[in-house]
Amino acid sequence: MWYAVRCLGAQDCLNTCPEKALLLTPGGMEIDRQRCTLCGRCAKACPAGALEIIGRPFTSDELLAELLKDSVFYETSGGGVTFSGGEPLMQADFLTQMLPRCKKAGMHTALDTSGAVAWERLEAILPWVDLVLFDLKIMDRERHKRVTGVSNEIILKNAGLLSAQRIPMWIRTPVIPGYTDEVENIRAIGAFIREALPTVRRWDLLAYTNLGRPKYQRLDRPYLLEKTPLLTPGEMESLHQAAVELVPEAVWSGATR
Ligand code: SF4
Repeated sequence: MWYAVRCLGAQDCLNTCPEKALLLTPGGMEIDRQRCTLCGRCAKACPAGALEIIGRPFTSDELLAELLKDSVFYETSGGGVTFSGGEPLMQADFLTQMLPRCKKAGMHTALDTSGAVAWERLEAILPWVDLVLFDLKIMDRERHKRVTGVSNEIILKNAGLLSAQRIPMWIRTPVIPGYTDEVENIRAIGAFIREALPTVRRWDLLAYTNLGRPKYQRLDRPYLLEKTPLLTPGEMESLHQAAVELVPEAVWSGATR
């Protein structure tokens, strides 16, 4: 992932890019992301550190060594490791290497997933997962597809299968104005949790935050929620009240105005 900031116009990157994917404009450096192969040469060449790779590849050995640096903290706090994303199951093979090693090292392991994955991928790693954080956003099937681009059918099915396997779960619902914040939607999710997910230990209502905006800007992507205001504490309280009537473990958090 690339972020373009602090460009001083030195142009070293232009000369190193094998794909001619960079263009210096009066507004700063532009990256043709269709051409860019993420080779990283421009970032190495830039004297101002204006181009930067966010994240880096790890082998399972390297990542385990990094995680073990915090083992004292895990022991004293009862904490552990959470594989999150994006969607960690996009790297399912890596998870099947890492999770058994984490368990062998005595760590508590959690997986934070959208649930929109083939059941076989989830099932394959369950022996090494202590807790699943699982997103439920919209219960209406058509609306879910319109808003997220995928049906919620597989998500709801996977949630039910996880709970049937006695896996402890935390449900996470991002509360986004105009998308997921209708009380009917919250009640429908609550009813589903109550009826189909007996292993849910907690239901997080996460108030929409606009902290993602700079990331979209740096990636040259439109931020569709530009004009969306934060929710008020009263709005979140009222949704929480509806949630807690069905699922006593419901809590809310996040930014409000
Ligand atoms: S990462 Fe490589 S291909 Fe992409 S802009 Fe930089 S030098 Fe060009």
